[in-house]
Amino acid sequence: MMETLEFQAEARQLLQLMVHSIYSNKDIFLRELISNASDALDKLRLAKLQDGLEADISDLHIEIEADPEARTLTVRDNGIGMNRDEVIDLIGTIAKSGTAELLSKLKEAKESPELIGQFGVGFYSTFMVADKVTLVTHKAGTEGHGTRWESDGGGTYTIEDAEDAPVGTTITLHLRPKDEDDALFDYAEDWKIREIVKRYSDFISFPIRKGEETLNSQKALWARPRSEVTEEEYHQFYRHISHDWSDPLEIINMKAEGTFEYEALLFIPSRAPHDLFQRDARRGLQLYVKRVFIMDDSKELIPDYLRFVKGVVDAADLSLNISREILQQDRHIQMIRRRLVKKVLSTIKDLMSSNPEKYATFWREFGRAVKEGLLSEPDNHKPILEISSFSSTAGTEPTTLAAYVERMKDGQDEIYYLTGETRSQVENSPHMEAFQAQGYEVLILTDPVDEIWVDAVPEFDGKKLRSIARGSVDLKKDDAEPEKEPEGDFAPLLGFLKEKLDEQVKEVRLSHRLTTSAACLVSDADDITPALEKMYRAMGQDGPRVKRILELNPNHPLVSGLRSAHEGNADEASLPDTAELLYGTALLAEGGDLEDPARFAKLLADRLAKTV
Ligand code: ADP
Repeated sequence: MMETLEFQAEARQLLQLMVHSIYSNKDIFLRELISNASDALDKLRLAKLQDGLEADISDLHIEIEADPEARTLTVRDNGIGMNRDEVIDLIGTIAKSGTAELLSKLKEAKESPELIGQFGVGFYSTFMVADKVTLVTHKAGTEGHGTRWESDGGGTYTIEDAEDAPVGTTITLHLRPKDEDDALFDYAEDWKIREIVKRYSDFISFPIRKGEETLNSQKALWARPRSEVTEEEYHQFYRHISHDWSDPLEIINMKAEGTFEYEALLFIPSRAPHDLFQRDARRGLQLYVKRVFIMDDSKELIPDYLRFVKGVVDAADLSLNISREILQQDRHIQMIRRRLVKKVLSTIKDLMSSNPEKYATFWREFGRAVKEGLLSEPDNHKPILEISSFSSTAGTEPTTLAAYVERMKDGQDEIYYLTGETRSQVENSPHMEAFQAQGYEVLILTDPVDEIWVDAVPEFDGKKLRSIARGSVDLKKDDAEPEKEPEGDFAPLLGFLKEKLDEQVKEVRLSHRLTTSAACLVSDADDITPALEKMYRAMGQDGPRVKRILELNPNHPLVSGLRSAHEGNADEASLPDTAELLYGTALLAEGGDLEDPARFAKLLADRLAKTV
């Protein structure tokens, strides 16, 4: 019985975009079909090798058939196939997260291959060249009939049983009339098909046949010397494995011989995927054993902080039916992983000098992820820090730590940084004042991960990393002027403030870091910062609130005035309010959150009312 079903809303929108040809290069539909077919063949071989599925894998191949008269093009594979539910799930819906959001962006930007690339539109791209698509499929290992699916790319598709469908999948395109002005070629023509296969799919490891002939060389790209492979071939292979339509930023070849042989072909993308920071995103490399595809998304081969790296590892000495569980413990795999990490990090380091522009792109796209490695891989602190860059008060361009160290002032032996939410918040923080006044460079760290890794990294090049909002500051003054105000004169006021603000702060002291502000809050050297506290709370971990230290600028008129007022009459009724205002202002100045903003506003309004 034939049923008519509706596409899921997002799938419908995407189809609309395909029908209306958002992408100018229509040739790629064939690449997508061949890529899917190749995956299906890999899956069938695996199902047999690993799960013992009864299947004939003696002649896995892809077949292309064109009928210029009937204007049809057929791509057939004898791979894993799909059952009815899978057809509905896989072809009728788009499961990927973030799709709706991307679709709305896509509608705004008309011609935008980068955005399309993020969907892996795959099968739907057939509707760029066909006004009707028929898919007949039969899942390997299932008895009886297969499934026939058909759609004209509108809102619905039909689905029905297909008697006598062989195992695998056959996709037939009813081609639209050719329209070369719109880059819509005659895809039933023999030369066009050959051209596309050669250009986009030559490396596919299964034969792609047309009639008696095999159209592709089937050579595994990673096994060929780099000098013999064109840039274009690498790029097409990258697309096949990554579903990213933009070209990679960097290509890495590796080959190890000896007791444990492997070859690797890695790609550093030029753009971060939209799901780089989503925990459920696909990541990992493809694992092959002696040219045989074993698994996708092998996370064991590359650490999480390098999850954006794509590629293939072909190991010679693993068993074909190795499982993920075994993989995790295999020491060869761990060794490969270590070497890959080393190679990726050193490649990026080389880029810094050989191609600073590429490096800048890399860091902009992936820096946030790379810094996670400072937490997870203590052994690699050094190489990771060496390829990192940070915003700094020294200029608008990010700087490396090595460059910072070179610029350090005489007598400076620590690397200063300040974390915060935005550059301007950090730059204008009271903590900066003395550093700026005396020309000390401070790194501006504004990524959430910065709050955390700084605690894990003790030093770089023998120089301690030091938050300027923590501990006490002892900057070597240029004009070695003696402190004008000895602490003693302020002792009664400091004591008074400590008592009044006991709930909020653990200490009140005079500051060496302020030049223009009256007060600021600093964390004790060993305490966690308020931003970190906030992050822990956001993650549901409730800890005690950590009190900070209130530092006062003895040269500020407000502070000296307060001292006189307190000296004059320690019981003056307005003093406690002033203490609260002082604390609240210090909190606001660093971008912190007042506990009771309404109360602060009232205190301030009352005080202002007295002065107008
Ligand atoms: P993608 O390939 O990016 O996942 P597609 O829309 O091209 O997206 O395909 C969706 C899914 O449909 C594939 O992931 C696969 O599971 C299934 N599929 C597509 N073509 C085939 C095929 N020839 N044989 C078996 N399954 C297929």
